[in-house]
Amino acid sequence: MPRRNENKCSFCGRGESEVDFLITGMGGNICSDCVHAADEIVKQNFEHKSSFSSDLKSLPKPTEIKSFLDDYVIGQDEAKKFLSVAVYNHYKRILQKKQDDEVEIEKSNIILVGSTGTGKTLLAKTIAKKINVPFTIVDATVLTEAGYVGEDIESILTRLLQVADYDVPAAERGIVFIDEIDKIARKGDNPSITRDVSGEGVQQGLLKLLEGSVVLVPPQGGRKHPDQKMIAVNTQNILFICGGAFDGIEKKIAARLNTRSVGYTAAQKTAGIDQDNILKYVSPQDLKSFGLIPEIIGRLPILTYLQPLDRNALRKILTEPKNSIIRQYTKLFKMDNVALTFDDSVLDYIVDKAIEFKLGARGLRSIVETIMMDAMFSVPSEKVGNLNITLDYAKEKLEKANLDKLRAE
Ligand code: ADP
Repeated sequence: MPRRNENKCSFCGRGESEVDFLITGMGGNICSDCVHAADEIVKQNFEHKSSFSSDLKSLPKPTEIKSFLDDYVIGQDEAKKFLSVAVYNHYKRILQKKQDDEVEIEKSNIILVGSTGTGKTLLAKTIAKKINVPFTIVDATVLTEAGYVGEDIESILTRLLQVADYDVPAAERGIVFIDEIDKIARKGDNPSITRDVSGEGVQQGLLKLLEGSVVLVPPQGGRKHPDQKMIAVNTQNILFICGGAFDGIEKKIAARLNTRSVGYTAAQKTAGIDQDNILKYVSPQDLKSFGLIPEIIGRLPILTYLQPLDRNALRKILTEPKNSIIRQYTKLFKMDNVALTFDDSVLDYIVDKAIEFKLGARGLRSIVETIMMDAMFSVPSEKVGNLNITLDYAKEKLEKANLDKLRAE
């Protein structure tokens, strides 16, 4: 307790007799301990300022972001373009000075529609790497309304805080990828339907995060309980990227495209419509018919799509990205001084199997893993300088394995 009439630190309230020394200022005092603490805060602030481009000039331009994405993600040009612009504008918005022209740039949260395994998560992850901000992925299916079994909506921010090492200002300009947003769709387009806990309630809960508000977050996650000290996080500058497969949305898009052209002749109706890639016509209206509530759609103003990956794209995914699967395995072997090579026919065979077993891009990795397992087991203890994988070798290894097991993954 400070003695009566003695000078006190204006920050911690301790008296002069309780601290090493007290510096007296114009309207208050500060003790040596608080000087140290303040110094730490200033230093930390400088540190994360330096890891994030704090002026527009050093912020990567959309074309730069896109070409960075090109290094890691095959195809998906439209989505890359939309994302690059949205992300650039988002950080422009963060950097905007409080001006009195009253033009306020609004948040540009993004929604990506595309089948599973086409690169939605990969795109979001790669963007976060480029911008150098905290990034987390959450699965919308585990979220429930407060009071139900599952995770509270706020747990999304707990994850972001954790990856930001509890650096709140850094977390407050991070990126959150919400996967499987389609799984919290209302069952049907009819708002009068009985409210379903897992769907509409969660959408309502997400609203306040998406639009930007101060949310009290349990630092360790889990359910809120009275003793847990909450951390206030402002979501205003957090960029939300939502992704979903929206299985069956093509039918809704096609139906809309057809009804809109009533009055034209049948030929005109379908003329110019790329029937093989209906997804590219996706509009907010289709998301609504799928069961997203209009308020959520309104807060995800950037809508773009990902194309299904064809044979050509899968083949490129194997070798072209900077950390492609083949490059990763080559590196693994190189660490044991083994030069690993693959015959071209092996790469074609891997793609054929991924298509045959409907494994998509995700399956490529499991197939390569299956082919390489025996070699990875024995080669490190043998004196081999190089290893070339032939078609016969790959076939032998893969036929031995149970591919149906991969399909289940
Ligand atoms: P989604 O989020 O759309 O379900 P992911 O982004 O998680 O799919 O993709 C799964 C894996 O497949 C990725 O880790 C990556 O290895 C590979 N992949 C998918 N799409 C692409 C792509 N367009 N370019 C490169 N790799 C891809």
